[in-house]
Amino acid sequence: MGTQPTFYEILRQQGITRRRFLKFCSLTAASLGLAPEFAGTIAHALETKPRLPVIWLHGLECTCCTESFIRSGHPLASDVILSMISLDYDDTLMAAAGYQAEEILDQTIEKHDGNYILACEGNPPLNEDGMYCIQAGKPYVEKLRRMASHSKAVIAWGTCASWGCVQAARPNPTRATPIHKVVTDKPVIKVPGCPPIAEVMTGVITYMLTFDRLPELDRLGRPKMFYGRRLHDKCYRRAHFDAGQFVERFDDEGARKGYCLYKMGCKGPTTHNACSTMEWNGGLSWPVRSGHGCLGCAEEDFWDRGSFYNPTTDLNVPGGVEVTAEQVGKVVAGAAAVGVAAHAAVSTISRLVRKDDKGGSSDE
Ligand code: SF4
Ligand code: SF4
Repeated sequence: MGTQPTFYEILRQQGITRRRFLKFCSLTAASLGLAPEFAGTIAHALETKPRLPVIWLHGLECTCCTESFIRSGHPLASDVILSMISLDYDDTLMAAAGYQAEEILDQTIEKHDGNYILACEGNPPLNEDGMYCIQAGKPYVEKLRRMASHSKAVIAWGTCASWGCVQAARPNPTRATPIHKVVTDKPVIKVPGCPPIAEVMTGVITYMLTFDRLPELDRLGRPKMFYGRRLHDKCYRRAHFDAGQFVERFDDEGARKGYCLYKMGCKGPTTHNACSTMEWNGGLSWPVRSGHGCLGCAEEDFWDRGSFYNPTTDLNVPGGVEVTAEQVGKVVAGAAAVGVAAHAAVSTISRLVRKDDKGGSSDE
């Protein structure tokens, strides 16, 4: 690792000035949600540490994680790929192919044994001895296990690698299996989403390079800095949820007024991701801002939980009052969202009670 040039050295070779380098560090600190003084820590790490060797593998997936990654605004994916990390192998981004490409894997193990990051996009199918995904003449799962066993840590990019995603949908004929169930002897950092937000992906790598450790993970193995909150907690439509103001149809007055999309199936209340804070495409927008509810793509089994627009079952409101979705104005709730459902129900009931007190109609 000592012979590897540092990120800063590479930048200087590219003609990047120190002023621009420091600006880059400030932006990176901000994108990681760190205080401005951490820009100095990041600068020091990037000036002194060798680039991080990364091997990026692809199993069963659609490549949307790569598509997302190369659109990162802060830090720029081009900066990360070309300077911050040494992306030694990536089937979809590298020029090498065939035997030449596979040799890179052997060379990486030889040069960086125990010191490279294995980034996995997609998952291995285990049925029929892994025959549903063959790479270089062998089941992908063999390549995955071998490269993981020599790595420092594994990043599971996206919902395919983290949870299985649609290729693992019931009845899962290929037995598509998330990475952490195949790689059990290395730390696995899950970065779910379909795809994950670009800046979340580059942020995870930047953090690992800067602090030379894994980011703090939640109980499911996701970096807390990006997955520590539900979308619902920071959603700009939240005030409408609390006021019991819901969109009932995609073309109704509530939709035009930007009311809460909970009744249209929004899974924001049970989904942990950074969409409502970082947004997408360089902070341009996110699904809820565009008028569509969250599908919950960063959560386990989101693909097998019924219709994305499903109105749900009866609601149990704390205090022993049992109401049905019909009675509270067809408020929807998922089985996994009982607390939220109760909140929504109580919000709606409170509003109905207020209306009744004022002699208004409660038929909503
Ligand atoms: S339910 Fe969805 S639209 Fe409504 S406040 Fe929560 S995240 Fe926003
Ligand atoms: S809004 Fe929901 S479904 Fe859309 S990307 Fe974010 S977590 Fe996934």
